[in-house]
Amino acid sequence: MHSATANEPRTLGDHTWQDQAACSTSHGTDPELFFPEPDEIDRITAAKSICAQCPVRRTCLDSALENGDRDGVRGGLTEEERDALHSKLPERLDYARINDTLAGRDVHLSRAERRAVARNAHQAGIPADQLARLLKITKEHAQKLYRRAAREIRNRNTTQKTGSPTVTVTPVKTPARADLGTAA
Ligand code: SF4
Repeated sequence: MHSATANEPRTLGDHTWQDQAACSTSHGTDPELFFPEPDEIDRITAAKSICAQCPVRRTCLDSALENGDRDGVRGGLTEEERDALHSKLPERLDYARINDTLAGRDVHLSRAERRAVARNAHQAGIPADQLARLLKITKEHAQKLYRRAAREIRNRNTTQKTGSPTVTVTPVKTPARADLGTAA
């Protein structure tokens, strides 16, 4: 299985990153340290200092958000500090994930990222059955996403012609991470 490096999102179902966790009990860490009460400042500080040295901190945070894991310190953030990130996750727009999906990697996508994949695939002329395979959905669902993408692109083009604020849509031909950069 392909495991995530520090620079790319983990593949869905990949738990190998946990082998590198600085909080692993194999390092003699007390797991309870990562479940402090909000007023236990010393425990919070101790847990965060371990997270600060953790090589998989970003992946840990992504995993907690994507799995709805709201308990305890994860990725260097307390439950309270992660609250807003959990709420905003559906609108996350990480172009590295969009490119990874178009390149065939199976990574977690937010609602906004799925729509962006559909828009870019539509503009690149990728057939609906291929989009269905990329997103692990039915061909009918992929066709529905394409109809939505076509409407969104048409609306944007209309907005541009009428002189309203412009939005540039860049077609993706050969998806590569460097094409679009990272916005998360
Ligand atoms: S970031 Fe913190 S909670 Fe996550 S694996 Fe690393 S040490 Fe553990």
